[in-house]
Amino acid sequence: MGIEQPWIEHFFVGPLQMRCSVVTDRHTGDTIIVDGGDEPERIISWIERFEGRGPDWTTGPQTKEEAANLPERHVVALVNTHAHFDHSGFIPALRAHFGVPWYLHPDDNYLQTLAQASGRRYGLTLPEPAVADEAFEATRTYAFGSLELSVLHTPGHTLGGCCLLLGVDDGPDHVFVGDTLFAGSVGRTDIADSGGDFDLLAQSIHTQLWPLDEDTVVHPGHGPLTTIGHERRTNPFVGDAAGPGGSFGFGKYA
Ligand SMILES: [Zn+2]
Ligand SMILES: [Zn+2]
Repeated sequence: MGIEQPWIEHFFVGPLQMRCSVVTDRHTGDTIIVDGGDEPERIISWIERFEGRGPDWTTGPQTKEEAANLPERHVVALVNTHAHFDHSGFIPALRAHFGVPWYLHPDDNYLQTLAQASGRRYGLTLPEPAVADEAFEATRTYAFGSLELSVLHTPGHTLGGCCLLLGVDDGPDHVFVGDTLFAGSVGRTDIADSGGDFDLLAQSIHTQLWPLDEDTVVHPGHGPLTTIGHERRTNPFVGDAAGPGGSFGFGKYA
């Protein structure tokens, strides 16, 4: 069960060039924003008016004219993979504008309170951190208007880290993984106050991500897109090549 021809846009935002994904059901216009971490004005003006810089990558219309036959978009929810400031720092601006609930796994609520202090280390002034309106529970499927996302809890980069799976009827599924998995790499496990743990991260990936269809498109929080099958075969930290003992078969970060 899923949607057809998902309209997905990526905006690389902020100093860490974090991937904010905007997902729309092109039949209904229902839209969710995954990881609204920065540049809220850019995202809002594009969603509402197709004005401004627009997305860095899209499966949908690239101009207002191309979008003429599509329904008007309405944002129905804000969802997050985790609470690091680059992913969540400007949720307050998006929430104030759209007036919709923000979903986060509760194990990241404490981390979320530290967003301003973390941002300051990068010279950023962030608004008072948002408090989540709704608690993501694993393993559960949420309906956001006509869009459905399944929540996979994947702790290891942070305690409350989640991967969000979008089922697609006429093509590969898509999974928004935050900083759990990258093309050829995995999320850091040494960030202060986050509950990082490499063994837990590897276990999360093995149990929650590797069982997905191998053509599932992986949308990481940073860097290029990849697929579940490609990472399962080749990822040097958690893929088959890593062997049972972790990276390269002789211990983590060996
Ligand atoms: Zn992170
Ligand atoms: Zn990040």
